[in-house]
Amino acid sequence: MSVLITGGAGFIGSHLVDHLLAETDHQVVVLDDFSTGSASNLAHLDTDRLETVDGDVRNGSLVADLVADADAVYHLAAAVGVKTIVENPLESMRTNLEGTENVLEAAASDVTPTFIASSSEVYGKSEAVPFAEEDDRVYGSTTSPRWGYATAKAADEFLALGFHNERDLPVVVGRYFNIVGPRQTGQYGMVIPTFVEQALAGDDLTVYGDGTQTRSFTHVEDAVSITHDLLTTSDAHDDVFNVGAPGPTSINDLAKRVIELTGSDSDITHIPFEEAYDEDFEEPDEREPDVSKLRDVLGQSPTADLDWILRDVIDERTDEVID
Ligand code: UDP
Repeated sequence: MSVLITGGAGFIGSHLVDHLLAETDHQVVVLDDFSTGSASNLAHLDTDRLETVDGDVRNGSLVADLVADADAVYHLAAAVGVKTIVENPLESMRTNLEGTENVLEAAASDVTPTFIASSSEVYGKSEAVPFAEEDDRVYGSTTSPRWGYATAKAADEFLALGFHNERDLPVVVGRYFNIVGPRQTGQYGMVIPTFVEQALAGDDLTVYGDGTQTRSFTHVEDAVSITHDLLTTSDAHDDVFNVGAPGPTSINDLAKRVIELTGSDSDITHIPFEEAYDEDFEEPDEREPDVSKLRDVLGQSPTADLDWILRDVIDERTDEVID
């Protein structure tokens, strides 16, 4: 069996490659344009079961050729990170919309089971935590670029479900909640690698806003294992699932824990959102997944264990983790 992973050189994608190579005997083909992904994420793998194709998911004929040879598709390629979205809104929208449509169109011709990566961003600034999959979405104005990402991901979900309903494509959507782990870079604004790098350098940890906002951090190994299970469980098809660990942490508490675990002398500095991003920026206050549906269908959900995540991220950058 051959599996195509778009975005397979990215942070989550490369862990999915690891997982499939370890847990199955599949051939794995990665399509990545190496914009935010990196060859170094796959450099530890020396196997003829892995093939890497350098290309853009917006290239419809390339996507069609690769999907035609695949027995299952995981579509993870996307413009990622709030910073990327805010700085390159047009490019991000187009990648996230056209790429998904290309993948689904190609998969529909051969009825190839497909996983579509979505995001907890689709809940927008809803305050109805924990978020269940059927809950309302609450977005701000189109003049605030952040909501372009949520809108594109929601459109991807509509496309996926539309391809199921009208073209009989077996498809499942996973909404990732703040997935973290080794290989994630702080370059695109993600908070945990940023804080760990700041703490290890002895720099101030930059908490945006008053730091009371919460996020539910999920270890990437849990996320990719659930991703695989969702696509291989037919009861999960034609549906949308939260992929996240219940158990939110405030960004202030996160910063303190990073300082404790690294044994750093760093201080914490609070930076207003409008300085960190731009003045139109809006921030979801709380974000936590309701995992009932995931548990009903798969009998499991990701583990809420912030220290596991932090130790792995710190370990990757240093051998010295303080207990
Ligand atoms: N954040 C922060 N300092 C940073 C980067 C992010 O305080 O250097 C905050 C950010 O404002 C948000 C949370 O950490 O409240 C998670 O940010 P991230 O970009 O990792 O994910 P998001 O949930 O915004 O998609």
